[in-house]
Amino acid sequence: MKRVILQKDREFSIRHHHPWVLSGAVKFIDGGTPENGETVAIINSANEVAAIGAWSGGSQIRIRAWTFNPDEIPDAAFFSRRVETALLARTHLDIFEPGRAGRVINAESDGLPGVTVDRYADFLVAQFNSAGAHRHKAEILDALREQIPCRGIYERTDSDTLAYETLEPSCGVAWGEAPPDLVEIREDNRRFLVDIKNGHKTGFYLDQRANRELVTRYARGADVLNAFAYTGGFGIAAALGGARHVTHIDLSRSALELAQRNVELNGLPLDAHTFTGENVFEALREQRDRGLSFDLVILDPPKFADSRATVMRATRGYKDIALLGIKLLRPGGILATFSCSGHVDAELFWKITAGAALDSGRTVRILHQLRAAPDHCTVPSFPQGEYLKGFLCSVI
Ligand code: SAH
Repeated sequence: MKRVILQKDREFSIRHHHPWVLSGAVKFIDGGTPENGETVAIINSANEVAAIGAWSGGSQIRIRAWTFNPDEIPDAAFFSRRVETALLARTHLDIFEPGRAGRVINAESDGLPGVTVDRYADFLVAQFNSAGAHRHKAEILDALREQIPCRGIYERTDSDTLAYETLEPSCGVAWGEAPPDLVEIREDNRRFLVDIKNGHKTGFYLDQRANRELVTRYARGADVLNAFAYTGGFGIAAALGGARHVTHIDLSRSALELAQRNVELNGLPLDAHTFTGENVFEALREQRDRGLSFDLVILDPPKFADSRATVMRATRGYKDIALLGIKLLRPGGILATFSCSGHVDAELFWKITAGAALDSGRTVRILHQLRAAPDHCTVPSFPQGEYLKGFLCSVI
């Protein structure tokens, strides 16, 4: 195994079990340049093996650690143990019950950098987003199908970060049966049709499950604005919580068509839902100009910042919609506002929300601080895993 020696002043993070070695932390390589995805030993200044990881020559994240145990290597038994641990961590969750959905493997946070696996009823959807994950695909798939009963595993390696890992997109049946065009899942008491093959991410925003459930408790009798609606998630949760009317806004026509089917699937009357295929930034201004107001406004935008360079622009975007959202609320109304940009950390999102509250001239009270659902568990040594943050606020 090739040995990668770290710069002495750059070994802090690996010593604290953070799984990334950045390119600048590499002092030299003993044994020649590794292949993409090749297993390497990470050597500290005491000449000890600090971790074993996968090399990624084209990425700023040059090595992703598989293990901090120098006696472990990423073989079939290793991946089997990792999957077993991920299942154990989810023992108390309902995501493996028939018809349910949830995240099974949460990449770095489950000790499997680059590997994301979601369950949608009888099917698993897997992403292999790092060079190391790609190289060990076969062993990982074996471990999954041996430990998780399913009819098939579908691969959705098509994230926009693949180029950094010099990987090509790869989608299709990885094992077993092909999934139907739409898979029906149930989360809490909500039912959804999920397009595993073409939907966003692996098909559905499973990370928002607990927050959708929370929103049902604030929706009785409400006029709801569900901005960035996708396939209806939050709006359907609100409707099941007794909302009077929901306006769903999303740029994606196909997402809104599925949202409409999901409303029907939940036995909800369609005439209490409006589907608007507009840009949220413009639609919110239009609603304001028409003098409309709501009791519950949900803002769940896509990732506005995909790098440090775009954080400023993202900040303006988040603040813009939060300010408009607050202004659209009736006194005592509820704002649920989210950011899933890892580069916008909790402190910055707090400041953005504070800025919007201040500029609105309204009284804003935070009732809940929100994060991803527990199946998206994180490891304390890897704070980057906490990408989703949000607030549920009362606006007076
Ligand atoms: N709240 C959803 C997930 C939202 S994902 C759920 O719980 O399932 C973000 C959505 O925003 C996507 O569906 C995308 O099509 C939409 N979107 C992105 N930019 C937009 C914009 N400027 N205006 C309207 N919709 C937008």
